[in-house]
Amino acid sequence: MTAETFEFQVEARQLLQMMVHSVYSNKDVFLRELVSNASDALDKLRIEALRDDSLGADVSDLHIDIEADKDARTLIVRDNGIGMSRDEVVGLIGTIAKSGTAEFLQKLREAQKDGTPDGAAATEGLIGQFGVGFYSAFMVADEVTLLTRRAGEATGTRWTSTGEGTYSIETVDDAPQGTSVTLHLKPADDEDRLFDYTSPWKIKEIIKRYSDFITWPIRLITAGT
Ligand code: ADP
Ligand code: MG
Repeated sequence: MTAETFEFQVEARQLLQMMVHSVYSNKDVFLRELVSNASDALDKLRIEALRDDSLGADVSDLHIDIEADKDARTLIVRDNGIGMSRDEVVGLIGTIAKSGTAEFLQKLREAQKDGTPDGAAATEGLIGQFGVGFYSAFMVADEVTLLTRRAGEATGTRWTSTGEGTYSIETVDDAPQGTSVTLHLKPADDEDRLFDYTSPWKIKEIIKRYSDFITWPIRLITAGT
């Protein structure tokens, strides 16, 4: 099916700009955010399946997969949770619905007015405090693709963006239930404190540091040399 292109809402675009051109030293938090979303999606599916017998979703093996491919320079965070409908993708991912994010942006502007290095330190504190969610993927990726199908729905949705102003959406027939977020990673660059996020060692370290409390199984799958 053909993809449609949309523009990000103004605030979303501002937040994305900050992520794409990010100079924050702690980019590792993007994985915390994606794993946290996956975990929320699994929680939601479990609850909805309990309430609704007709949902028809398999809840026997709920888990999070993290799949890294060194050669392709991709990192995939996949869950078989609740998923999103097309409208949810547009509403939740294309706009900034969270009131906390508006506050975050305001504080960030104030902090950046002060200039670096104090401004940069303040920025990091803010990211830690608020959590910047899905968009933090653009700190480490030059393209992000999200493929999702909501439990109980027949078709899925693919969302793709480079984080620069627009995103595209298309309906897909054969999406598995749940959500996978594929990051095409920026080149690893130690000076910019961008690590090799396909390294199993690095991934395990981040998961241990930030996502140790997640109760769902997290499986790490690695490929490439
Ligand atoms: P937050 O998690 O604080 O709401 P995010 O930017 O991380 O903000 O995510 C925005 C919304 O997108 C989530 O609230 C959720 O509704 C939806 N979402 C993100 N990731 C997933 C996912 N893996 N499965 C289902 N829904 C998701
Ligand atoms: Mg989140």
